[in-house]
Amino acid sequence: MRVVFATNNKDKAIEVKKILDGIDVYTLKELGIESNPDENGDTFAANARIKAMDVYEILKARGEMKETIVAADDSGICIDFLNGEPGVKSARFLGHQTSYTEKNRIILELLKDAKDEERGASFVCHVTFITEDGTVFDAESEMKGKIAYESKGEEGFGYDPIFFLPEFGKTSGELTREEKNVVSHRGKVFRKMREILCQNNLL
Ligand code: IMP
Repeated sequence: MRVVFATNNKDKAIEVKKILDGIDVYTLKELGIESNPDENGDTFAANARIKAMDVYEILKARGEMKETIVAADDSGICIDFLNGEPGVKSARFLGHQTSYTEKNRIILELLKDAKDEERGASFVCHVTFITEDGTVFDAESEMKGKIAYESKGEEGFGYDPIFFLPEFGKTSGELTREEKNVVSHRGKVFRKMREILCQNNLL
């Protein structure tokens, strides 16, 4: 059984390959698949389904779904002080062309008057898996933390440098990939999905 991970995000792919250690995980790039569907859903679940279904249809049309599971995730950061924004719009927040250094700087600026107890935030990750016969499995997890007062760390990607984890006294951008995977939204949900697939004798 192989898993085809429907993402064009190389950082996510690195994390998921480590989380699903022992399973053959292929990225779209590795299989020469072009998939960029319009992520127009209102929820993480809806967008994960859109991404997974697009790749499932492509592989089905190519006759390449044999012993294959398609996986897709949709994730984002929900910031309490911004009423849960950017949420499902995390990737396009402030425009796709804006660097994350700049996005993070602007978020810190927006929260400059927020007190410690007002800085709550969570990373959410929803995954959708589709098996060869079209059966769909879903799961969602989160990682709770706070928006930091300054950007720190070179590890991870995206909003990691401003996501402070009180239990580590560090941002997720200062954790190694292995440390992050233990506690992260993505680590938790892909491990949950691995269990679901095992329970259904699919792995
Ligand atoms: P999407 O799931 O591809 O729509 O993109 C989600 C966006 O949320 C990413 O591009 C990042 O900006 C952000 N994001 C999701 N997960 C993480 C994470 O683990 N660290 C940092 N940023 C993340």
